[in-house]
Amino acid sequence: MKNAFPILIAEDNPVSRKLMEKTLRQAGYEVVSAENGREAFTVFKERFFPIILTDWGMPEMDGLELCRAVRETPAEGYVFIFLITARDSKKDIIVGLEAGADDYLTKPFDRFELIARLKTALRVLALEKSLKDAYEKIKLLSITDKLTGCYNRAYLDEYLTKEITRAKRYSRPVSLVMADIDHFKRVNDTYGHQAGDLILKDFAATIRKGLRKDVDWVARYGGEEFLMVLPETTFESAMSSTERLRRFVSESVSSHNGTAIRITASFGVVGFVPSPHNLKTTHKAIIDCADKALYQAKNDGRNRVRGKRLQVE
Ligand SMILES: [Mg+2]
Repeated sequence: MKNAFPILIAEDNPVSRKLMEKTLRQAGYEVVSAENGREAFTVFKERFFPIILTDWGMPEMDGLELCRAVRETPAEGYVFIFLITARDSKKDIIVGLEAGADDYLTKPFDRFELIARLKTALRVLALEKSLKDAYEKIKLLSITDKLTGCYNRAYLDEYLTKEITRAKRYSRPVSLVMADIDHFKRVNDTYGHQAGDLILKDFAATIRKGLRKDVDWVARYGGEEFLMVLPETTFESAMSSTERLRRFVSESVSSHNGTAIRITASFGVVGFVPSPHNLKTTHKAIIDCADKALYQAKNDGRNRVRGKRLQVE
């Protein structure tokens, strides 16, 4: 069985290199080898290796330089580096570890020791991977609204600022849409809170379906309020796509324990076009504007889209 962690070897001595390759392959590792540090680094930049075994003294780029170069290169995971050397004075070992090596082996290496040390490296790499996975999971949970799967308020506050800053830097339009389910309290009062949750989920799914994948995004703003962010979108096109969405929502039916529930929603659109005159406009001011348009839609009888252009000529 192949080991999941491929190993990159950098060794200029052909005899020693072949011996290492053979030992590692027999132990089930996939091995790629290079004749010096520079060649190894070129290979590493093309493909990620979680384990590197490098000789110290090599022409062109030695083991220490290779360690430093790898440490300075952003990689998809941790790289465990063994420095293999004839030197074993304490001073040399410290120099090696300071250059970024995790462990060292002295020449001539003992194959059983090499395999045993590799197992230590694998434990470290497995731990690093499980920490990374856990971190990704927590990160996703921390930015997601549990019920609807939309982004949450914390994400919105952070990323909307970035989105607006980006729009200003490149003088690109950005539109925001505040959406609010009409008479949501009535759904809860009539059908119960489980039905209310279902309506929220269905509504979120409906508006997400209407957005451009990987470009637009939506966050749950409050109870039954959602904020859609449409980068690179003019006011006109935000208005027409929101109108389509409004109609789609009003035609959708949710089914709760065999009961069909229909809802409508009101939408407030704001189109922001950056110019030298409105660079100080904050994301809060833009949200405020969307909020006012939403209020207008509610006031005009609900189930409609109202909008405002935030543009200074
Ligand atoms: Mg050498």
